[in-house]
Amino acid sequence: MRYSQVFPKTLREAPKEAVTANHKLLVRAGFIDQLMAGSWTLLPLGWRVVTKINQIIREEMNAIGCQEMLMPLLHPKEIWNQTGRWEAADEVMYKLKDTRGRDFVLSFTHEEIVMDLMKKHIRSYKDLPLNVYHFSTKFRNELRAQGGILRGREFLMKDAYSLHESEEDLMIWYEKYKQAYLKIFERIGLDVYVTEASGGVFTDKHTHEFQVEAEAGEDTIYIKPGTKEGYNKEVFEGDVKQFDVKRCIEVGNIFPLGKMYSEKMGASFIDRDGSKNPIWFGSYGIGPTRVMGTIIEVSHDDRGIIWPKSVAPFQAHLVDLKNGEEIYEKLTDAGIEVLWDDTDRPAGQKFADVDLIGVPVRLVVSEKTLRQAQGKQIEWKERASDKTELLSLEEVVERMKK
Ligand code: ATP
Ligand code: MG
Repeated sequence: MRYSQVFPKTLREAPKEAVTANHKLLVRAGFIDQLMAGSWTLLPLGWRVVTKINQIIREEMNAIGCQEMLMPLLHPKEIWNQTGRWEAADEVMYKLKDTRGRDFVLSFTHEEIVMDLMKKHIRSYKDLPLNVYHFSTKFRNELRAQGGILRGREFLMKDAYSLHESEEDLMIWYEKYKQAYLKIFERIGLDVYVTEASGGVFTDKHTHEFQVEAEAGEDTIYIKPGTKEGYNKEVFEGDVKQFDVKRCIEVGNIFPLGKMYSEKMGASFIDRDGSKNPIWFGSYGIGPTRVMGTIIEVSHDDRGIIWPKSVAPFQAHLVDLKNGEEIYEKLTDAGIEVLWDDTDRPAGQKFADVDLIGVPVRLVVSEKTLRQAQGKQIEWKERASDKTELLSLEEVVERMKK
């Protein structure tokens, strides 16, 4: 893509009220824009990153046999009344009435909606296990929507739901989801701790959270030294001295919900022995927009963002001080996602934008590099390093494909 076409352009200053790195850098670099507190537009660059995060999540969900679908966001009160959460989760819900006085809520999660759907379709143990997921917007009346894109009142979530004939089967799948989540965070380049936590408005059982150490985090966790596991402060009992205390951002949460939802909503199946039993249930959430913000919190310097390769908006940022167009075309034809600064701005401004936007590799073509012997006419520099090298076009393509 040509930088002259990118909307919008970078900003010199961060918003005055911005405190966190993700807020300052994502806004300055043109990835997100704020409509009001807790409400963000994902601009073209931001949407490219979130699309890549979503694709990694999608691949790992599909790999364990979870099927993608899409559920509605406007929900009738009657369904939420069946579990009592119309009242119990009142604080987080955005409720509204239509002109005929009927009550609705904007989705803050989907357990009741999934259970209502499954009630209509699941008959016997032969229909189980069943695993579905979707990517959709969640609305939550967060009291303090702060920390940039980390805490929205409207945000993206991938939520998955699993249905089972027994607790044993639920726990087998719960472990599959846990492993899939670990793979997802590894591919995204986030180092996670897995902590036992409370179930909030979802369940009275313990759940597992995926936590990333960062100053901007709002959670305190206790980690068993030498391991990647521990407890969220909210459920911790014991001697703090035995643990490493860390401040973290919660990026994912999995819930072994049990039978509460199916019992209250009358969702049952005919078991192997002919008896009618409630369905066992689990749910599994990751917030792709919070994940994007978390990456910035753990991967930036004073010049800008440092994207991991797997989710970077482009693979290379080409700065053209002479004859760049031909190289841009050739790299693009080779299937590489290149951002080409085709503007006639001073080199210093172009380089500053490269570091701010944070694409993993900077390529420079200049009078000097074009004079190099053996066709090694492109300067290669990685965002996370100061080392520069001269490479041929073929060598650049080869390295990019690794
Ligand atoms: P928190 O404790 O931070 O409020 P939560 O425990 O209420 O989050 P869950 O219901 O577990 O959140 O949601 C699953 C995932 O969705 C979270 O792990 C997080 O990645 C994301 N998420 C939750 N709330 C928000 C939010 N307000 N803005 C952005 N992402 C969110
Ligand atoms: Mg949670």
